[in-house]
Amino acid sequence: MSNSAIAEIRLGAEHLAPDALSVTRRLSGKLLVDGEIRDALTNETFEVIHPGNLAVIGLAPKCRVEDVNAAVEAAAKALVTWRKIPARERGRMLQKAADAVEANAKLVEQVLALDTGNALRTQARPETASSIDLTRMFGGLAGELKGETIPSANSDVLQYTTRDAIGVVAGIIPWNAPLFLFVAKVAPALAAGNTVVIKTAEQAPFCVLYLAEIMNRELPPGVLNVISGYGEECGKPLVEHSAVRKVTFTGSLPVGQAIAGYAAPKLCPVTLELGGKNPSIVMADADLDLAIPGIIEGMRYTRQGQACTAGTRVFVHQDVYEEVVEGVVARLADIKLGNPLDEATDMGAIISEEQLNRTLRYMEIAQATPGARILFGGERPTDPYLSKGYFYPPTLIDGIPIESEVCQDEIFGPVATVLPFSSFDDMIASANDTEYGLAANLWTRDLARALEYVERIEAGFVQVNQCVAPRSNVSYGGLKMSGLGKEYALDSMVHHFTCSKTVLINRGTPGPNV
Ligand code: ADP
Repeated sequence: MSNSAIAEIRLGAEHLAPDALSVTRRLSGKLLVDGEIRDALTNETFEVIHPGNLAVIGLAPKCRVEDVNAAVEAAAKALVTWRKIPARERGRMLQKAADAVEANAKLVEQVLALDTGNALRTQARPETASSIDLTRMFGGLAGELKGETIPSANSDVLQYTTRDAIGVVAGIIPWNAPLFLFVAKVAPALAAGNTVVIKTAEQAPFCVLYLAEIMNRELPPGVLNVISGYGEECGKPLVEHSAVRKVTFTGSLPVGQAIAGYAAPKLCPVTLELGGKNPSIVMADADLDLAIPGIIEGMRYTRQGQACTAGTRVFVHQDVYEEVVEGVVARLADIKLGNPLDEATDMGAIISEEQLNRTLRYMEIAQATPGARILFGGERPTDPYLSKGYFYPPTLIDGIPIESEVCQDEIFGPVATVLPFSSFDDMIASANDTEYGLAANLWTRDLARALEYVERIEAGFVQVNQCVAPRSNVSYGGLKMSGLGKEYALDSMVHHFTCSKTVLINRGTPGPNV
């Protein structure tokens, strides 16, 4: 399909983003390699749709090994000079890149909403803002890449460690929060003196390519490269490339395991941010004015539940069960499903047919479960606009046994289950009874219980009396099968994007020329 044949999406009252559509069309068939937005070497492309109305918004190159090699070679060439630029100077360039994104934020957030189907006001705009913030933060932290001096038994010997760039970093990102996850990999990697090749997700390549195009204007050529393609054909050769010395991935558990396998033969370090099946727990003494909206925020319905940290298993003490369920259902009824580009919309569309079908499959299991009650949602909308796109309402179910797939698998759609409990010990055992260990949230006024939960819950991102999304400057990562390593903070840059030499220098005897 030629660029000119890309379907028009309806503009005006329904779609409010003609400029964003111009961006996706301009970037159609392109990638960013060696400082240039250019055609891919491959002639193959795949269609990218807007999940709100399934219109094709552009074509993305289906890169294979030739494009991977070109991007990695550009990154390897740029590394030679980039790593020698003083760290604070690199940081300043990143901060200018963040300024440039901010100057174009309106369009960036629209392209993000068009690509992902995430609502502009509740998701795409805040994600754009936090991506700018995270880039600035890492720019400012570049000067914190410090080694240590090590006390020596011999006063003539100076011992210290360095913090050095690792080399070319490969990043593979998903579609659910593509801009934030892009900068979470790119900004610390670049600040630390590495160069980067990112493979975008098939479903949402344009917002990342556009962001990269803007950032690239402030960076030397080849420092930041962005390619698109499928996992096996493009992601695998990227990870396996001999010049790639670090891999950072966000996505599903099976793919994370495969990527760790590709990287293993060359002993390449890997950071993995994988899935979760996260508990939100309401104790009998909880402040329900915090807990009820907190549970809803935790469900990440503004991203259609497509979040690794979504609190999709809600445990509520039986004494407050009815009150909490009633309160949550009343608020779910206020969530406005609609055109992602409309300012009035709270919740947009699921990313793809595959993901919608996944949600529908789990809903079939739920509906066939004896004793299950659909407390809210559970049916595709019939409104003519909404029924065309991949829309599904926020859905709350109870009466599902904890061992059901619905309570065990990461659905990655707008579906949560609620379960009553009476014993703290049993509830903690159930909350921990999952292979994942990403996030957990508890509401209580009892400090001792809160601290006991913090100690006993098997999760890497633990909150009490709130359930906010991960953010800049707060170290984030999972336990168990939810991942390896941390992101979003100084320690992630230092530990995951640098290598270190230990140096021992014996001063010897001073020379004669003093
Ligand atoms: P999701 O289920 O959220 O789509 P995936 O883990 O399938 O998450 O995909 C996340 C990213 O991993 C995407 O960019 C995808 O193309 C990439 N990917 C999928 N399979 C592989 C693979 N075998 N090797 C490398 N990358 C892959």
